[in-house]
Amino acid sequence: MQLFDTHCHLDFEVFNRDRHEVVERARAQGIEQFMLLGVTCEQWAQLPRVALEIGSAYYSFGLHPYFIEKHQPEHLEALKQQLLEHGSDGRLRAIGEIGLDAECGHMERQQQLLREQLRLAREHQLPVILHHRKTLDKLLKMVRESGPQRGVVHAFSGSYEQGKAWVEQGYFLGIGGTITYPRAKKTRDAVARLPLDAMVLETDCPDMPVCGHQGERNEPARLRQVLSALASITSLSEKDVAERTYRNSLALFGLNR
Ligand SMILES: [Zn+2]
Repeated sequence: MQLFDTHCHLDFEVFNRDRHEVVERARAQGIEQFMLLGVTCEQWAQLPRVALEIGSAYYSFGLHPYFIEKHQPEHLEALKQQLLEHGSDGRLRAIGEIGLDAECGHMERQQQLLREQLRLAREHQLPVILHHRKTLDKLLKMVRESGPQRGVVHAFSGSYEQGKAWVEQGYFLGIGGTITYPRAKKTRDAVARLPLDAMVLETDCPDMPVCGHQGERNEPARLRQVLSALASITSLSEKDVAERTYRNSLALFGLNR
């Protein structure tokens, strides 16, 4: 079985002490590939290095809305520069994470940054990794305005109708720890009805612990629990779900050519 953790912050400091062991534990569970995310201008520099250290890892560059107060106008210029510099590195596979977060304020500035980064992704023909919090519909509107583009809605949690609208837009849905909680009925019901061929798996570690591990640092090995929840929700075998979501991940990041 081969799995792809399409969203993990393995470069974060909390993994500095035992990153190697964390990756080994993941591999022992069949998690072979990892996507690391860009969040701030000053953090980008460590991504190519950590991806190389891990081996089978990829990375993206982006300005995360959560850090809106840290981002400066010149960071967009820096992003353009990074894309040019690393464009031929086969590991740079996306722009992300970018998006809108209703809890972080400065919404106009967030939208402006997002618009620019969507444009850059189109220009460089890279998929986008989208962060949302209470902004799914606003985000979809902006993505539609920006035009056709590949991408993934990270940590999808929403209604069937919302999921369907994103799938029709050609986006993948990032399925993470949320569905391991029996109480997440709305998202589990939505996921049961949405097409598996639009889903990829993710942990968002060190955040979003799976059920039974609340309060602990999350890690990619736990992707197995997400897989098993998705298999149970869709009434398919784990093997089927693993194969199909893995294939989707390759398509998302353009690794299947
Ligand atoms: Zn994230």
